[in-house]
Amino acid sequence: MASIFHSGQKTSEKNQFFFKKVLTFSLIIGCLLLQTASTPYWGFWAHKHINRLAIFRLPPEMQVFFKKYIDFLTENAVNPDKRRYAVVGEAERHFIDLDVYGDRALMMLPKHWPAAVRKMGEDSLRKHGIVPWHVQAAASQLTAAFRQKDARRILRISADLGHYIADAHVPLHTTRNYNGQLTGQDGIHGFWESRLPELFANHYDMWLGPASYRKDIAVDIWKVIESSHAAMDSVLLFERQLTAGFKPDQKYSFELRNNVLTRTQSREFSEKYHRMLAGQVERRMAASVQMVSDIWYTCWVNAGQPNLSLLAGNAGEVQEGKAEAAEHQSWLQRLLHVRPESDN
Ligand SMILES: [Zn+2]
Repeated sequence: MASIFHSGQKTSEKNQFFFKKVLTFSLIIGCLLLQTASTPYWGFWAHKHINRLAIFRLPPEMQVFFKKYIDFLTENAVNPDKRRYAVVGEAERHFIDLDVYGDRALMMLPKHWPAAVRKMGEDSLRKHGIVPWHVQAAASQLTAAFRQKDARRILRISADLGHYIADAHVPLHTTRNYNGQLTGQDGIHGFWESRLPELFANHYDMWLGPASYRKDIAVDIWKVIESSHAAMDSVLLFERQLTAGFKPDQKYSFELRNNVLTRTQSREFSEKYHRMLAGQVERRMAASVQMVSDIWYTCWVNAGQPNLSLLAGNAGEVQEGKAEAAEHQSWLQRLLHVRPESDN
């Protein structure tokens, strides 16, 4: 069904944006190589860190399995970003441009996908991003994988789900001004979610206690979107205010990364901005870890708490095959037939 996988113009704009961020922007000046600092979305470092930390909040019955594959779950936390161009329909799973729906977006948008499709139309929803609905779908998939005791699917979907949940916690994933491009603040996306965590996250408090059961994943993921969106104004405002007091050569500096001289926000600018945000990045990151493990745990409980110790030796090669990638795309089609009609 071609329309299921339609991607709007906005999505292709975001693809270009992503390309710009992932590709190395380098200039050879004499023997000097200069590179613009750029890492995609919650930076790769943060995504990996979030999935890894989430494992330690799980109960022992789950840890027996998840810890065995801790490196897989860590490394593959970035898979969804890597396959944005290989898989049609992937790009829109990482964001929602809430502001295109007006001030009452959170009141107006149905929490569940079928009702949202009936109200807004699927192409329109996809154009402006579907992360809160996709998290629900991926959680359904994970519950099914636990029920089937399918070790490979449990690992693959858990890694992906951790990524989407973490993306939903990033304020700039909830606005069409996702990189400050509408307000002359280009580059703020990577600054907030890559540069700041890489500089300061080692000092964050990530001892969060054991995972909790989530009674209603739909309600909870929409609360995440609401709090991310509420934080967005200060993300943009503080950067603008701070920039006004900095000369460009103070705002940016060059650092050596992987033997490449990279232009990035200076340490002084980063520290001041981080202080102005008053713990915001830490709070969003901690909330990400919390929700990732809570939802992994909830899916396992909903599946009847299958004995994972029996699976621990069974996962074998867990890389995604072609058939699985195709199956991964079709979740929406299936969900359309199982969600209640009155859902809103
Ligand atoms: Zn992403």
